[in-house]
Amino acid sequence: MRTTVGIIGAGPSGLLLARLLHNAGIDSVVLESRDRSYVEQRQRAGILEQGTVDVLRAAGAGDRMDREGLRHDGIELRYARQRHRVDFPALTGGRSVMVYAQTEVCKDLIALQLKEGGPLLFEAEALAVEGADTDSPRVRFRHEGVEDVLECDYVVGCDGFWGVARQAIPAELTRIFERTYPFGWLGILADVPPSHDELVYAHHDRGFALLSMRSPSVSRLYLQVPEGTDAEAWSDDDIWAELERRFETADGWRLERGPITQKSVTPMRSHVHEPMRHGRLFLAGDAAHIVPPTGAKGLNLAVGDVVTFARALTHERQTGSAELLDAYSPTCLRRVWQAERFSYDMTTLLHRAPDATPFEDRLRLARLERLASSRAAETELAEAYTGFPF
Ligand SMILES: Cc1cc2nc3c(=O)[nH]c(=O)nc-3n(C[C@H](O)[C@H](O)[C@H](O)COP(=O)(O)OP(=O)(O)OC[C@H]3O[C@@H](n4cnc5c(N)ncnc54)[C@H](O)[C@@H]3O)c2cc1C
Repeated sequence: MRTTVGIIGAGPSGLLLARLLHNAGIDSVVLESRDRSYVEQRQRAGILEQGTVDVLRAAGAGDRMDREGLRHDGIELRYARQRHRVDFPALTGGRSVMVYAQTEVCKDLIALQLKEGGPLLFEAEALAVEGADTDSPRVRFRHEGVEDVLECDYVVGCDGFWGVARQAIPAELTRIFERTYPFGWLGILADVPPSHDELVYAHHDRGFALLSMRSPSVSRLYLQVPEGTDAEAWSDDDIWAELERRFETADGWRLERGPITQKSVTPMRSHVHEPMRHGRLFLAGDAAHIVPPTGAKGLNLAVGDVVTFARALTHERQTGSAELLDAYSPTCLRRVWQAERFSYDMTTLLHRAPDATPFEDRLRLARLERLASSRAAETELAEAYTGFPF
């Protein structure tokens, strides 16, 4: 099997890259180890930055998002039983975000790829990338029990944090920057209309809570829990009671309860792999970097990477110059580190570490009060939340 770009992974980064390349007249093959329904049902991100929305529209993948997605013009910060709204368009010259689940982005991109794009093979597990530093890299993979080789001009590893592509970059050329947090998020999906029409980020002495949504009838809520917590150790009643405590306000706001349809715990990690390129192997999305979800940046960073790669390869095809491909890693990393910084800031602003000192507790409160009283501080948050330019 032969193609111009071999893409490993059919998460948001791999699927969008295949679409962008198809639109640019460049052929690709996508290898995905899981089956289609697993990829379409995997609950993860839900907030699309303005730039991501624009890219999906321009790629012809925005129709259902525009019909069913929810445009959000702000978020609410909650602390000390007070509420403070951050108004994105007013602070950023009109930018906003879209609530549209990652599951739906993937469904839309898979449908387009199967209808119009190149091969997308499910249950095709990449085993290794070979010859990354030659002109003809290969992906060895297993599909329907049979081993095969995909010969490529370029390989893009869009295979997430646990993928194999990263392993093809020699350890002596690699630097890893990492931080793990002593807490995770217990996330639930509940069949109940969201109790607020925008996301609510709540800081409480007992820990962080987030109210978010997947649609007008489905709520997505999260609780900060100790690292290593088993989701099944929490009863539904205990989850609702803890959410009520953390979201409580002085003005009597109420959280509506409903049937919980899914619960799971997500660990919190910051991780950057440098460089994001070795020879003709490029890393994109979670394969190269992870952010804690507090800043809603993971999916949006993945989009930024593949836009950068598609642009660079198109430039090479049109002009013969590899300058943008050569600049891929530093170009992406500039944006990645801004998102790492913002995600870290939001995480430390809103969570309470188990060993937090009274001094740190007061500082956190001071930072929240600064946000609620300074247009400059709010603008910084609004600009980062709605997204850095691609
Ligand atoms: C549990 C969880 C919750 C999250 N919640 C949020 C959130 O609320 N907000 C937010 O912004 N971000 C969130 N994220 C992050 C966000 O979902 C990711 O940043 C995003 O999915 C990155 O897309 P990706 O395509 O790079 O990687 P992935 O979505 O991980 O896709 C990688 C794909 O590669 C496939 N693959 C792996 N190995 C191989 C192989 N050897 N061969 C072939 N295919 C392979 C995988 O099956 C997968 O389909 C969450 C992540 C997790 C894990």
